[in-house]
Amino acid sequence: MIINARDKTTKFLLRFAKTPLIFYPYYRRHVPLPAVIMIENTNCCNAHCVMCPRETLTRKRGFMDFKLFEKIIREVSSSKRKPVVHLHGFGEPLLDDLLPERIKLAKAFGINHTYLVTNASLLFPETAKKIIAAGLDLMKISFYGTDEESYRATMRRLDFKVALNNIKEFVKIRKGLNKKTPQLIVQYLPQETNGAKTKEFQSLWHSILDKRAGDRLNFSSLDNFGGGRAYNPVTKKIASVCFYPWSAMSVLCDGRAVTCCVDYNGVQCVGDVNSHSVAEIWNGPVLSAIRRNFGKLNYSGFPACLHCDWVRRR
Ligand code: SF4
Ligand code: SF4
Repeated sequence: MIINARDKTTKFLLRFAKTPLIFYPYYRRHVPLPAVIMIENTNCCNAHCVMCPRETLTRKRGFMDFKLFEKIIREVSSSKRKPVVHLHGFGEPLLDDLLPERIKLAKAFGINHTYLVTNASLLFPETAKKIIAAGLDLMKISFYGTDEESYRATMRRLDFKVALNNIKEFVKIRKGLNKKTPQLIVQYLPQETNGAKTKEFQSLWHSILDKRAGDRLNFSSLDNFGGGRAYNPVTKKIASVCFYPWSAMSVLCDGRAVTCCVDYNGVQCVGDVNSHSVAEIWNGPVLSAIRRNFGKLNYSGFPACLHCDWVRRR
C-alpha cells in the first residue's frame, strides 16, 4: 500500500529507471537532499490485511518521537527545494495522536506537499476535522473490498461500513469547511480475496468522491514487499535500476534510515537520524556505495532487494 507502480509520478520516474546506463555514470549526481522523505510516524496497525506481511514484522512497535520528527522536518525544509513529505510507513498513521501536530509542523516549515496513506478505519469526524485543519495535501485510502464480505476477507480486523462511512463523512466535512485538501485517492487492490471487482469498486465510489476537489480512484497491483510475500516471480534477471537511492529516503519510527519503504524490517539501514543529519546520511558513504552498486544492477548484499519484484518486473 505504500508505493504504487501505477501512480502517475511513479510511472514517470520508472521510465527513467529502465536502463542502468542513465544512472551509472552519474551516480554521484543526486540532488543534495531527497526529493521525497518518507517518515514513519508509527509501525503499529489495527488491521492485518491479507497481502501485508505484518506477521513477519520483527521491529519493536512504536511511534516516532516528536522531537526527532521535528529535527527531520527542520533539516529537510532548510533547502530551497523542499521535499515531498510522506507521513506514514509500515503502519496505520491515524493511530498516532500526534499526527495532526506533525502535519501542522511540516506545513509551518514550508513543506508544500504532505501525504499519507491510511485505511480510514479511524478517520472519525473529529480526526477528519483536525487533519483538514492541519493542512494535509493528499491522502490515499486503502479500501480493498466492495462489500462487507470481500472487505473483511482482505482487510482483516476492519469494518467495511465504518471505513465507508468515515470516508463519506470526510468528504462532507471537507466540503462544509470549504476546503479542497486533502485530495483523496481511494485505492483498490484487485486480488483473490476480494474477487477483483474493479467495476463494482468504481460504482461504489462514483457518487461519493468529489471530482472538483481532485478526488480520484487508483488501482494498484500486488507486490512481494521485499520478500514478505511471493505474489510475483523473482527471477535472476534484473530489469531496471531502483531509483530510490537517487530520489527518496525512508525513515523508520525509531529513526533509522533505510533504502526504501519496502524494507519494513530495517535490514538495509543506511544511517540513523538520531545521530546524523539527513544530509549526512543522504550524501554519506553508505548511500554512495549503494548508488554505485544499484547503478550496475548489483543488488547482492541487500536482502530485501534480492527478493524485491520491483526491479524485475518493469
Ligand atoms: S492497513 Fe496497511 S499497514 Fe495495516 S495491515 Fe493493511 S496494508 Fe498493512
Ligand atoms: S527493496 Fe531494493 S530494489 Fe526493491 S524498492 Fe527497495 S531499494 Fe529498491
